[in-house]
Amino acid sequence: MIDKVILAKIRKCLALGKSSNEHEAAAALAKARALMDEHGLDEGMLDLVEIEESTARAAIGAGMSHACAIPGCERPAKDGQLMCWPHWRRVPKVLNRAIFETYARGPVEAYQSNVAEAIRAIQDKEASEGGGQ
Ligand SMILES: [Zn+2]
Repeated sequence: MIDKVILAKIRKCLALGKSSNEHEAAAALAKARALMDEHGLDEGMLDLVEIEESTARAAIGAGMSHACAIPGCERPAKDGQLMCWPHWRRVPKVLNRAIFETYARGPVEAYQSNVAEAIRAIQDKEASEGGGQ
């Protein structure tokens, strides 16, 4: 696992490297390069970490509002929420808690299986109510 503090530093330097002040930009890029060398990183690895992070964010829905995790549901879910509110409310309490626990402490597999179970639970409820919403 790549140190997040180092990554943040490198990213900051890379961002400064886009500065309109040529001198500042060159110095920032040199610093970023030096940090990457020092920690055995390259730009490809930075991209990978970025992709991993945005996937992780998308999974829990932090960031922008996004589609509800229930297939076929058109309602958006808010920042940091897995499902739209009407659906999230219907997740059994035990599962709801388990999702939070595993999201905070992992492992990712447990989180994903809890989420899958919550989705199934809601789909079952809707099916037994005669075709859902
Ligand atoms: Zn929904």
